[in-house]
Amino acid sequence: MMRIAAGLIFVGAVSLYASGAAWSQTAAAKSAAAAPQAAAAPAPAAAPAPAKAPCTNPNALGIARIVEIDTTGGPGFGFEHFKQLDFLRDKEVVLTFDDGPWPVNTPSVLKTLAEECTTGIFFPIGKHATYYPEILKQVAAAGHTIGAHTWSHANLNNKKLTEDQRKEEIEKGFSAVKWALGASPSPFFRFPALQHPPEMVTYLGTRNVAIFSCDLDSFDFKASKPQTVIDSVMKKVDKLGKGIILMHDFQKHTAEALPELMHRLKAGGYKVVQMRAKTPVQTLAQYDEEVLKDAKLPTVSSRPVSSVVQTISE
Ligand SMILES: [Zn+2]
Repeated sequence: MMRIAAGLIFVGAVSLYASGAAWSQTAAAKSAAAAPQAAAAPAPAAAPAPAKAPCTNPNALGIARIVEIDTTGGPGFGFEHFKQLDFLRDKEVVLTFDDGPWPVNTPSVLKTLAEECTTGIFFPIGKHATYYPEILKQVAAAGHTIGAHTWSHANLNNKKLTEDQRKEEIEKGFSAVKWALGASPSPFFRFPALQHPPEMVTYLGTRNVAIFSCDLDSFDFKASKPQTVIDSVMKKVDKLGKGIILMHDFQKHTAEALPELMHRLKAGGYKVVQMRAKTPVQTLAQYDEEVLKDAKLPTVSSRPVSSVVQTISE
């Protein structure tokens, strides 16, 4: 019942922007408009808006429009679990990628998305963010939206976890991503295995963090080859006609499937919607400190990019 109430309250929480080629101007206008407010009431630093290279691929999938999410009260997205906010129009999709950052596969996904002049939402695992902060910085630099997906990918429905441990998984996930980026990510959260205990849904509401389930799950982690990922996504999206697509930049087959999948989506008349948060997440100092302590982070962060990131092809 709580989710229904939240859905009614925040049904207006999705602002829509006509965008097309003008999306970077829209972003610039938004930051400019937000500046005086930020000065009056200091907010956590947002990741700097990256300078976007103009799209040189005439056949690119591109970005059809940008939606900005007011995450106050923790709205839920993705009809597999949350049915209140139906903001996608026919043939619109949102691309989402979980479990990174990871060498080879995440950079490969970034390369494909860049070639297609399009964007997605990334839900990194906190520990992975501490292993490969340079890769996560590349995700941010490419203009993608970044949320969080817990600290260690624990299933938060596991009855062995205490309430404090569940909260710690969520909070340390955000703190780790913030550490890796040097800036607060979006208040967008995805539960591992989409397992969401009601108390944590309520908790995220109090933290003003939006919850992302999905409309269609690619089950790419079960795929034995890239073609299976393509077929699975296309079959499901053709049936639904639109939706938030769950994939994994962590998975090799997904990275390999993505160029063809993008072509198939374009050919099928699908359009990508970019989702952004109105304000970044406010991490809690206690968990920021725990992340630093646990992961002995300065050592990890000092690794040069070349030791972590491999070029797939030029
Ligand atoms: Zn996951």
